[in-house]
Amino acid sequence: MTLDNALLTDTVPTAHVLPAWLRGPRLAGLPPLDSSAAPPALSFEFFPPKTEALETQLWACIRRLEPLSPRFVSVTYGAGGSTRERTHQTVTRIVAETGLVPAAHLTCVAASRGEVDEVARRYWDAGVRHIVALRGDVPGGGAYVPHPDGYAYAADLVAGLKRIGDFEISVAAYAETHPEALSPEADLDNLKRKLDAGATRAITNYFFDTDVYLRFLDRCLAAGITAPIVPGIMPVSNFQQAVKFSAMCGASVPDWLGHMFDGTENDAETRRMVAAVVAAEQVRLLRANGIDQFHFYTLNRPDLTYAIAHILGVRPKTA
Ligand SMILES: Cc1cc2nc3c(=O)[nH]c(=O)nc-3n(C[C@H](O)[C@H](O)[C@H](O)COP(=O)(O)OP(=O)(O)OC[C@H]3O[C@@H](n4cnc5c(N)ncnc54)[C@H](O)[C@@H]3O)c2cc1C
Repeated sequence: MTLDNALLTDTVPTAHVLPAWLRGPRLAGLPPLDSSAAPPALSFEFFPPKTEALETQLWACIRRLEPLSPRFVSVTYGAGGSTRERTHQTVTRIVAETGLVPAAHLTCVAASRGEVDEVARRYWDAGVRHIVALRGDVPGGGAYVPHPDGYAYAADLVAGLKRIGDFEISVAAYAETHPEALSPEADLDNLKRKLDAGATRAITNYFFDTDVYLRFLDRCLAAGITAPIVPGIMPVSNFQQAVKFSAMCGASVPDWLGHMFDGTENDAETRRMVAAVVAAEQVRLLRANGIDQFHFYTLNRPDLTYAIAHILGVRPKTA
């Protein structure tokens, strides 16, 4: 019997086990997090609720994450501006009832410049000073056609917002290239245009392969971009849903991730634990590579985000 065969049987002579283990690779592992270093800056993304029950869930989420003192919290704008009022209500309630700094997402799709400017002015008047400026997608899919009187692309929107007020502006970036971009280089030029137009940070679409993001940072720097390209982290607790969504937004789902979730379809508890481990490993690896800002797609559920923030050394501030 060869040693390999022996390892597959129940009658393994124990004397062979340790030598086999010792033939395995020896990896250094992630360096321990430096507890004396300043914790990273975080931001949290929420979506505006459609029902009273979802509103209750959102506010429980906000209250749970609020003591972590994020740099800002952002509220998405539904496809084609479908949540214009709900986004506005959520953002203004955050202004009125919390100590958080809100950022309102705003898109160009299916709206004239006048309509978009009006939304932006309402935010300015309500004391909101941070906008996440996006092109948006056509509701229900289909090819994007700019509104005849609208802002064609996010770079145009950034310039338009700067004419309305001195907003802080964040924009989107795609470590794996936006699916409609002519080329990775054209997409990078577009990111540069958005920053040159007045945005001060980009937030990436989520990604699972950390190397892809780190290589993207190299490409950004080579293109002369020095603004923060904050990694968007999505703790995945519903793998099937993530696969569907990733196909639409151009995020690749590596085989190893599928393997991690394989067989957990009817086991929500295990899925959540796997999700926490995957996201914790990802942020630790990013942190070990010097990244000190993270944006979390919370999906209005606080627990995974809270736990991962805790691992990163972010603790509640008590009054
Ligand atoms: C952090 C983040 C938050 C998001 N929040 C929302 C949200 O709240 N609501 C929502 O509906 N969507 C949201 N999205 C999704 C986003 O709207 C879509 O990914 C959309 O397809 C592109 O938006 P953008 O702002 O990146 O577009 P842009 O930067 O305008 O780019 C869109 C595409 O057009 C290309 N392009 C740009 N300029 C030109 C040009 N002049 N000629 C030809 N091609 C050009 C780009 O390379 C790219 O392929 C978000 C995405 C991210 C990463």
